[in-house]
Amino acid sequence: MLNLAAALQRNAVSKPDKVAIICGDVQITYAQFNAMASQIANGLKAKGIQPGDRVALSCPNLPFFPLVYYGIQKAGAVTVPLNVLLREREIKFHLEDSAAKFYFCFEGVEGLPMAQAGVAAFEQVESCEHMVVMTADQSLTDYQGLPTLTAFMKDQSPVCDYTPREADDTAVILYTSGTTGQPKGAELTHSNQYTNALVAQNLMEMRGDDVHLLTLPLFHTFGQTVNMNAPVSLGCTMVMVPRFDPALVKGLIEKHKVTLFAGVPTMYIGMNLCKADNDVSSLRIGVSGGASLPVEVLRTFEEKFNVPILEGYGLSETSPIASFNHLDMPRIPGSVGQPIQGVEVRVVDDKGQQQPQGEPGEIIVRGHNIMKGYLNRPEENVKALRDGWFYTGDVGRFDEKGNLFIVDRVKDLIIRGGFNVYPREIEEVFMTHTDVAMVAVVGVPCDQYGEEVKAFVVLKEGATVSEEALKAWGKEQLAAYKYPRMVEIRQALPMNATGKILKKDLRAEVLQAAETA
Ligand code: AMP
Repeated sequence: MLNLAAALQRNAVSKPDKVAIICGDVQITYAQFNAMASQIANGLKAKGIQPGDRVALSCPNLPFFPLVYYGIQKAGAVTVPLNVLLREREIKFHLEDSAAKFYFCFEGVEGLPMAQAGVAAFEQVESCEHMVVMTADQSLTDYQGLPTLTAFMKDQSPVCDYTPREADDTAVILYTSGTTGQPKGAELTHSNQYTNALVAQNLMEMRGDDVHLLTLPLFHTFGQTVNMNAPVSLGCTMVMVPRFDPALVKGLIEKHKVTLFAGVPTMYIGMNLCKADNDVSSLRIGVSGGASLPVEVLRTFEEKFNVPILEGYGLSETSPIASFNHLDMPRIPGSVGQPIQGVEVRVVDDKGQQQPQGEPGEIIVRGHNIMKGYLNRPEENVKALRDGWFYTGDVGRFDEKGNLFIVDRVKDLIIRGGFNVYPREIEEVFMTHTDVAMVAVVGVPCDQYGEEVKAFVVLKEGATVSEEALKAWGKEQLAAYKYPRMVEIRQALPMNATGKILKKDLRAEVLQAAETA
């Protein structure tokens, strides 16, 4: 049965006292996890939620997230996790677009007052009938007249058998900007979700005694599958961290003997630069994805911590893993490995014809991991899904051994004076500079060449290299048409909640500057 709620239920029976969730001083066993998810499922049913109804969830990495997510799954409903940084207007859009009937929202923490925006949005969406606010204060029964999670669960039975669903039924809707920048909901089925969790278990050789560190946001596909669904269905322990902080993370790895860490490249950069001197020898594997991992960052991490990083590639639409560096195969730094079992990956030209080996082209994917489609977006579906293939909007190439390399996003390509410049290549080179902590390269409109190459750089602590010196250094390293004519040193780069650098914000900034110049 391809059902994650069934897997949770199995673990609650086979290992009831095993700790499933650790967060600060809170520890929740598999029996307690299943009982609380059952109370939530029973509460939803009592409010009239039917299998297939959509239930939205806004919550940072706190125990509420897996409890509610699995409660919704047990009821046979569809979980719609929302980015925790969304504002009122955006939450309203997501509630309307997904036609959510029910909304669970965390009250918020300092600097992230989530329920305020959530309640305001909920009040404007008629089709969303109920809202429950998750509060840290268990004694509260209401929040601005709405029930708290404690009150909602109070009289519900802790026993509830999961609701069987078909493999093709939608399990979750994950909102993603995809290739066009407009948020749209990728509908992932029970089969997509369960199979990708199993794939993650196999690729990472997960065992029941693994301890996962959860710092990737669970509303995003990467954390959800690799850090939650895979370990829950295997009965592992998860240590939750609401906000990434490298020193805290290192301390937690030592304290809880964490064995598996999954992160985006900026997290590995943070771990490399952080001076905290904890014993992290319990770690057996690091997993990177979500953005390209500079080879320099991979090497430094592996040398410093003696832990291999396996890089994978995928998207929300591919549940997410599409290719991965298999543990039992020689790993090629810079490559995202090979297609996962049961999934085909091709590199094609703009007419959909397969490119000769070694030539870059758009990556397309076909197999068990491909979403059902974007919710309510027939036109987008026609573009993205053709003959069973999903068009990713990423440029890649295969080497002669079948290893996939991500060259860039189609839209990130800079064309300078007729030459294609792939920002990723320039970023890889700048990451080898001893003073550079982080870099993002974008195209700037330019009358003479169409576009000019600009590098935004964050320096390592204490580094004093100048913009001019970096520019001169880049000129020595890169061909004349590629090296950045513009280098700007910044204190930080804009990032999304997952920790990916927001190049679109940098691009918007340079466009605006060009227009006003
Ligand atoms: P999301 O749907 O938010 O997971 O974003 C998916 C996008 O992240 C892909 O289309 C890629 O552009 C990017 N991505 C994911 N993994 C990698 C990787 N290992 N290397 C480079 N880009 C990646």
